[in-house]
Amino acid sequence: MTDASLAGLVARLPHLRLLTEPGDLEHYGRDWTRRWTPAPLAIALPADVAEVQGIVRWANEQGVAVVPSGGRTGLSGGAVAANGELVLSLERMNRVLGFDAVDRTLTVQAGMTLHAVHEAAKEHGLIYPVDFAARGSCSIGGNIATNAGGIRVIRYGNTREWIAGLTVVAGNGELLQLNRGLIKNSSGYDLRQLMIGSEGTLGVVVEATLRLTDPAPPSQVMLLALPNMDALMEVFALFRSRLTLQAFEFFTDVALRHVLAHGAQRAIDGDHPYYVVTEFDADESSQDAALAAFEVGLDHGWISDGVIAQSEAQAAALWRVREGITESLAPHKPYKNDISLRISALPDFLHEIQGLLGREYPHFEVVWFGHIGDGNLHINVLRPEHLSDGDFIAQCELVTKLLADTLQRHGGSISAEHGIGLVKRAYLGSTRSEAEIALMRGVKQVFDPKGLLNPGKLFG
Ligand SMILES: Cc1cc2nc3c(=O)[nH]c(=O)nc-3n(C[C@H](O)[C@H](O)[C@H](O)COP(=O)(O)OP(=O)(O)OC[C@H]3O[C@@H](n4cnc5c(N)ncnc54)[C@H](O)[C@@H]3O)c2cc1C
Repeated sequence: MTDASLAGLVARLPHLRLLTEPGDLEHYGRDWTRRWTPAPLAIALPADVAEVQGIVRWANEQGVAVVPSGGRTGLSGGAVAANGELVLSLERMNRVLGFDAVDRTLTVQAGMTLHAVHEAAKEHGLIYPVDFAARGSCSIGGNIATNAGGIRVIRYGNTREWIAGLTVVAGNGELLQLNRGLIKNSSGYDLRQLMIGSEGTLGVVVEATLRLTDPAPPSQVMLLALPNMDALMEVFALFRSRLTLQAFEFFTDVALRHVLAHGAQRAIDGDHPYYVVTEFDADESSQDAALAAFEVGLDHGWISDGVIAQSEAQAAALWRVREGITESLAPHKPYKNDISLRISALPDFLHEIQGLLGREYPHFEVVWFGHIGDGNLHINVLRPEHLSDGDFIAQCELVTKLLADTLQRHGGSISAEHGIGLVKRAYLGSTRSEAEIALMRGVKQVFDPKGLLNPGKLFG
């Protein structure tokens, strides 16, 4: 690609902000994976929908690949530009476009951060309930493109549940208004849902109409220490049967060690192999119900210790332990697995996988945590100092193959919420059948005939 063709883009869109400095190319060319060397052609920062359409049309004429880009907090390499692509960053398109009190919807530009969406909903006495630790940096467009989950899925579901309408620039530059905020719409294929989780391979999300809901009732937060992995599912079943859960998250002692070294406060003394942070609706009876559940857990030997937050500050401190894990591991460039199973399949799977990881990773530090109440485990493997990045990843990939086979036998998915991106594309076939993948490729061809949107992502 030559400067002359970029000059063509500038001639077409004279007000478009374009960045080509090496520092900018590096900054916008990577996501949180840090595995690939960024090498984009340039960074385009459109200010409106017309500029996005202009960029995509120009890319079609010139045969230039385009990488849609949000906050680049992605953990699967979906927003990586390592092959001369044009990065199309939505970060300047970050405004609220409208609130409808009757529909209880908020319409926003796709570059708004999740945190800004939360704040905008709060101004109207409502909430947008999808939430997770990257809220300050990730964009709503990226959340939609990955069908992001997070810490409240057990109560509210994934991003998919909260999208009432989308405005999308398809691969040929055409503007699509999908579902237009309707609750009921039985008029054929739901292209809005197809777009959600499509990882920037079918279209660029430019605007979204989000459903809002009433704020959650007051809640309480508890941290529990557990003696073994079997206890995890017992405690989950116990608490879910007696309380209305808003969150149920777990992590191991290894994760705790990292997050404490990163500045979090220890809340339970002693060494315990597993921990749970749970949040549940707090009314007058739930305090007693929580304590009763705790006692039952102690009596059965499923719980070793626990604390219940006595203030908002304490609740925030307990959450910080769980939410700080991803950040505390980042300096180790972890190899991430983000797997999903039916909750009922978890106990058998966990037994099998514990054996597998113990056997295959005897010298690696393996950090487990995740949204166990949704059947979603994050298994992070940390690189030993003596291994190069390349050798480390090669060894991890061998185990991922075994993990993918095990998941396939248990009916699980190789990606729960991070997406396939570049990281897991070799394993898509363990979760999706050949027939499904062929249909997905066909859909891609229809939305993006020249294959210019995020090429190489999702499919190998
Ligand atoms: C500390 C931390 C905690 C996290 N916790 C969670 C969690 O609990 N749950 C969870 O689901 N994820 C989590 N993530 C992962 C990440 O935050 C999500 O995947 C998020 O949805 C990515 O949003 P983003 O704007 O950063 O997207 P990016 O990383 O910029 O992009 C992700 C994908 O979306 C595409 N894309 C971005 N914007 C658009 C657009 N406007 N139109 C079309 N395609 C687009 C990109 O091409 C790419 O394929 C976490 C990440 C971090 C760093």
